[in-house]
Order: sequence, then structure tokens, then C-alpha cells
Amino acid sequence: MKVSIKRGVLKVDVYGRAGQLSEAHSIIHLFEKTHPRAPVLYISLLAACRIHKNAKLALEIHDELMDSNISLTDDQRSAIVVLTANVYSSIGDHDRSLILRQNLYRNKIPKYSGVTWTEINGKMYEFYAQDIRHPQSKEIYEQLEILHEQLIKLGYQPNESVLTKNEINVEWSIYGHSERLAIAFNLISTPPGTTIYLTKNLRMCIDCHEVSKLIARLTQREIIARDKLRIHYFTKDGRCSCDDHF
Ligand SMILES: [Zn+2]
Ligand SMILES: [Zn+2]
Repeated sequence: MKVSIKRGVLKVDVYGRAGQLSEAHSIIHLFEKTHPRAPVLYISLLAACRIHKNAKLALEIHDELMDSNISLTDDQRSAIVVLTANVYSSIGDHDRSLILRQNLYRNKIPKYSGVTWTEINGKMYEFYAQDIRHPQSKEIYEQLEILHEQLIKLGYQPNESVLTKNEINVEWSIYGHSERLAIAFNLISTPPGTTIYLTKNLRMCIDCHEVSKLIARLTQREIIARDKLRIHYFTKDGRCSCDDHF
């Protein structure tokens, strides 16, 4: 990323987090007077829209980018749509949120390598990151949003170190990791207190590990997750059997 764009992202991020969204938007427009359009600046602003629940601006940005002839990579396109969908989730408009996700993934599920399986009542379910194939996807993302709000109240902050090179914005990407979708699905499908069993083909990322501990405590459910390296046994007091050595 060019230095000027990095600086721009930083500025947009600072103003955005502070809730000065129109100032952040103006910074982007100012930047564009002397530079080519940089979608990454808008992605940063969309993340701020999520924090401050500004769906109007999010949709404006979404339409501005998706309808323009600016060239977007698949990852940028995904980030824009998923972040906008997250903003709608944050204001409780789960129908609109799901429609946005479905439009993006109507023909193909993005090529993420992480997959989580979970067994409920003898039936196996499979989730990819950002998956929308399950018929109860709306309820699953609704549950994720409820969890997100509760985790933020507990002091949770997304861990940016888990960003892979394909994941542009930490929030949109981590939020839809496959194990979280599987956990959310368990929460809406099984009675309170039921243990959640997960199997993941890769190593669980540190952020999902942290979130799983918090969810186990919050929901008073044990979560047993087998990943590529070991079995994590998350207990109701919010700890993991691996003692975070993983
Ligand atoms: Zn993760
Ligand atoms: Zn663990």
C-alpha cells in the first residue's frame, strides 16, 4: 500500500472511530482530488459506519462504489458488501443484511479455506467463512450480531493480528469466520446449556479462540472445538484447556 493511501486510511479511521463520519467522508473526497480512487479508504469508513450504526451513509458508499466503474478486486467487493450488511445487522435490519450477502454470493461462495463442521441431533452441518448457504442464515447472522454487541460490552476488541493477506478489514472478516457461524447456529438450534461441538480443518485463529472463551462464559455453555492441532475445551468460566498455548 502506498504511503499516501496508508496516511489516508489512518485519518479516515481516526475520524471515523470518533464518530465524525462526514468529516471522514470529506477527507476521502479531498484525497480523490489529487489521487486515483482508493477503495480501501471507503472500506475503512464503512467499518466506522458499523461502529456508529450509520446505515444511510453505508448504503450511500456501497452504491457509490458498486455502481461506479472503479475496478474492485473480489476481496474489496466482498468487504464492501459484508461491511454494509454488518451495518444493517447493527441496526436490526436483518432482512436487508441477508439480501446484501446473498446478492454477493448468489453464484459462488468465496474461496476461503477454513471450514467448520458441527453436529446437532445426529446431523452434520458445514460452514465456510461468510457462508450464507444455510436456510437459517438470517437467524445465524442475527445471533452473531447479538453476540457481537454483548462481547463489545464485555470489553472485546477484534484482534488485528489475525488478518490474513486476503482479509482487508479485520472486522468484516473475523466476524464471519466459520466457527462463529457454527457457534451461532448451535445457540439458536439447541436448548440453553447444551454443549457445542465443533471440528475445524485449520487452526483456530487467536481472535476466534478469545471469542469462544467469552461466549462460553456469556452463554454458560461448554464449547469443545477440535482444530488441526488440538482439542480446545472452553469452560463456562471463560477459560480454555490449552491455557492459550496453541
Ligand atoms: Zn477466526
Ligand atoms: Zn484453546
